[in-house]
Amino acid sequence: MNPSDASVLPQDLSPSDRRAGRRTFLKYAGGIAAGMAPLVVAQAQGQASGGPARVDFPPDHAQSEAPEKMPEPSLPPSERIGYAVVGLGRLTVGRLLPALAKCKYSRLTALVSGDRAKAQKLAQQYGLSEQSIYDYRSFDRIADNPDVQVVYIVLPNSMHAEFTIRAARAGKHVLCEKPMANSVAECRQMIEACQQARKKLMIAYRSQYEPLARSLLKMARENRLGQLKEFISANSQNMGDPGQWRLKKALAGGGPLPDVGIYCINAARFLSGEEPVEVLGSVRNNPADPRFKEVEESVQFTLRFPSGFSATCSSGYNSHKSQFLRLQGTLGWAELDPGYAYEGNRLRYGLLENGREVIHEPSIAASDQFMLEIDHMSQCVRQDRQPHTPGEEGLQDQRIIEAIYASAQAGRVIRLDTPGNTRGPEPQQEP
Ligand code: NAD
Repeated sequence: MNPSDASVLPQDLSPSDRRAGRRTFLKYAGGIAAGMAPLVVAQAQGQASGGPARVDFPPDHAQSEAPEKMPEPSLPPSERIGYAVVGLGRLTVGRLLPALAKCKYSRLTALVSGDRAKAQKLAQQYGLSEQSIYDYRSFDRIADNPDVQVVYIVLPNSMHAEFTIRAARAGKHVLCEKPMANSVAECRQMIEACQQARKKLMIAYRSQYEPLARSLLKMARENRLGQLKEFISANSQNMGDPGQWRLKKALAGGGPLPDVGIYCINAARFLSGEEPVEVLGSVRNNPADPRFKEVEESVQFTLRFPSGFSATCSSGYNSHKSQFLRLQGTLGWAELDPGYAYEGNRLRYGLLENGREVIHEPSIAASDQFMLEIDHMSQCVRQDRQPHTPGEEGLQDQRIIEAIYASAQAGRVIRLDTPGNTRGPEPQQEP
């Protein structure tokens, strides 16, 4: 054994042993000198307990220096949760496959696509074999692949329900992109199928795992903004090709509301911790534009919550990209602008301090929100925990989406029943 291996310390050391650094190092170095058995046993115990093996170092700084915080180590690839990704479109290729490659508890083990040549190219790029490629028809054979524990569904919205149900029947857990489905009825079928198969269902609400949004949530929970009064948000973008599936009602379920407006609905709910009791919606159609023959051009809506808190939101497909949210409380405001971007989100907040309005722009380390979201799912599978954003969370947003459309059509406020708790425990953020 190389002498440097003496720095491999078992995971199950007590915190005081870890702090004792140098003494611990000497103790284990002594163990090696005495025949190496203690180290080998300790390493084996670390693996058996399901935790990643940790490599520690004796402290090289004086006690007057801040201790270095080592991030949680990654699991060896063979112990990570295996994912089959279904649908190899822009999100998968541009964000999810690179995020999976960075995960600590997750790894890519299969691809499902209607385009074999594209799947082969990606399989080669990410080190998968030909046997790890499935098409939509042969998808159910995934039941026989023990390397796949989770199926990540990244297809057009109308296909989410079918593939969630097929994945659950194949004995796999499901991570499904937003919006969960095209109707409340489909959402309920998806939840039921996963319950019957005793498999987990998580909806990929990346914002709920994003460090800046979590920091804003913490501020709100600590009442730093006072009593929350208003949420104001827009999520809009200018669409191109009129032939794309997002502009086909049967495939997308609607226009900007289920696609991008859902971020505003979800953020108003998770930041306030409340559920809306009244919904007022207004839809703008523009059938003269070839892009908006089947779906609306924009939707504006207001949600009212039991405490008096309200959300005023806009989502559109025909204005320049705008992705902000702003929370206003009795003692301050905070905004994310952009707030729904894949990267480069920015947090600012203003508070009265010693009689003066002070604006803060904290620097918070960026982290890939897709990686955090996927690793959260894997931790839930490994530890048999409920995901933070389970199917019930997607179902509630779909109920609100349907109420907004119904309100716009009827020209009046629609009242909503309050659901039970729609979220699992808070995610444990890993650095
Ligand atoms: P995309 O059009 O780029 O990819 C869709 C994939 O589905 C393609 O590989 C396409 O070949 C395949 N497909 C299978 N059947 C199809 C059909 N009948 N019509 C069209 N395509 C078909 O879409 P995307 O942007 O990757 O979106 C996929 C899903 O991911 C959607 O549900 C979307 O809402 C969601 N999404 C989420 C985020 C996020 O930030 N969480 C971002 C983008 C997309």
